[in-house]
Amino acid sequence: MTTNENIENVVIIGSGPAGLTAAIYAARANLKPVVLEGLSAGGLPGGQLMTTNEVENFPGFPEGITGPDLMQRMKTQAQRWGSQCYLEDVISVDLKQRPFIIKTAERTIKTHGLIVATGATAKRLQLPSGELYWNNGISACAICDGATPFFRGVELAVIGGGDTAAEEAVYLTKYGSTVHLIVRRNEMRASKSMQERVLQNPKIIVHWNKEILDVYGDGLLLKGIKLLDKETQQQQDLPIAGLFFGIGHTPNTAIFNNQLELDQGGYLIVKPGTVETSVAGVYAAGDIQDYYYRQAVTAAGTGCMAALSLERWLSEHNLIQEYQQVQTNPQESSGQAKKQSEQVEFDPRETNYYGGYALRKLFHDSERLLIVKYISSSCGPCKALKPILERLAQEYQGKIHLVEIDIEADPEIAQMGQVTGTPTVQFFQNKELIKEIKGVKGSNEFKETIDALLTSYAKT
Ligand SMILES: Cc1cc2nc3c(=O)[nH]c(=O)nc-3n(C[C@H](O)[C@H](O)[C@H](O)COP(=O)(O)OP(=O)(O)OC[C@H]3O[C@@H](n4cnc5c(N)ncnc54)[C@H](O)[C@@H]3O)c2cc1C
Repeated sequence: MTTNENIENVVIIGSGPAGLTAAIYAARANLKPVVLEGLSAGGLPGGQLMTTNEVENFPGFPEGITGPDLMQRMKTQAQRWGSQCYLEDVISVDLKQRPFIIKTAERTIKTHGLIVATGATAKRLQLPSGELYWNNGISACAICDGATPFFRGVELAVIGGGDTAAEEAVYLTKYGSTVHLIVRRNEMRASKSMQERVLQNPKIIVHWNKEILDVYGDGLLLKGIKLLDKETQQQQDLPIAGLFFGIGHTPNTAIFNNQLELDQGGYLIVKPGTVETSVAGVYAAGDIQDYYYRQAVTAAGTGCMAALSLERWLSEHNLIQEYQQVQTNPQESSGQAKKQSEQVEFDPRETNYYGGYALRKLFHDSERLLIVKYISSSCGPCKALKPILERLAQEYQGKIHLVEIDIEADPEIAQMGQVTGTPTVQFFQNKELIKEIKGVKGSNEFKETIDALLTSYAKT
């Protein structure tokens, strides 16, 4: 763990549109903000837009832009002006003393100012057999997992009646044979235009007034859901291979209990018309203080307000430490260029590879620990995981082989690997699958796994 004796001007928690806009403004004001981007505690680095495909209403992109691309651009802009970004979850804050203390698993930071932009996390339904089939047919992210071979040409279901559920149902029609939309009431909360897209889509069947009681399967994979008709009280089994939750969000404020004033729903309370919280020097931006608009542009707007307000507050209290700005041009990847699968001369001395050809060769010939990362092009979490694995590939150069498989380009490989969602990382030793890690995890978890496997490898 690192403890920096310096006192920072500003720490920003969260890397959605609110956090990154605050970072752009604070960095341009020479405050050199520290951005704790999050990892898995409350959504994803990059925030909720990492799980959406097309964003059509963010100003400046008349042709639309994908959520992950928009967030990557915001991060690049924040870093260009000197923001220091860390892919870490904040585990505690102490706002009762000054400077404030912010802790992650890897560092303790003292700061005069804090911007909270922790947004919201997708809700999960608690079903009796839900845990058993989580990631084995049940998913909270259609955009991340929909493209896996597992969900192609089969019947799928989405639960919910709002915009998220409607968007997921429409998106999943690209892959599933039929998409069942399970709606609790006899109407949807989704916007009129989203409702029309759902109701006009011949591949979507809407089940009105239905409640999900449980899921069932063969012990390994999901096979269907049990529904209750709320009007007739009749129960029905609906056979499906994939279930997606689109039932709203919970504000990520657990670490602020007893530190900041929260409302009954758990949202941060700000003074009307401002982004000021109950503690001077702490500002709240984005969905964490807004359950009404909940849009990327309003989150960005309040992120800007938070940075400007904090800069004024620091200045009024003579707390600003100005930094010389060093404009950087962050490269998306500092790692080795990945090797293309169709390379004529295949060189097993490299560390990074891409595609099915490389995997087949390495699976048979590699004498190193073989790590296979399954991704899909529309998957935001995959983009969040990329820099973590790239750094590890550099660190373990010559000791591992890392192969990236795009499940849309190589569906048969994903099928063989029984991949049910992206990102998935599998570890192979002597052609045997030893371990699998699903979703975005911190570099420590990967390091522990790699170190343990390399040690056992050395012994064999
Ligand atoms: C499927 C979907 C589609 C959407 N489409 C659109 C659209 O087309 N247009 C639009 O304007 N809006 C859209 N939205 C809404 C929009 O995504 C949100 O309003 C916006 O992302 C809110 O931004 P935010 O920065 O407040 O929070 P989020 O985007 O929720 O980001 C929160 C950040 O905080 C981090 N975090 C949480 N807890 C911690 C912690 N303990 N430590 C460190 N970091 C933490 C998370 O990792 C994340 O980076 C969509 C939302 C969804 C779910």
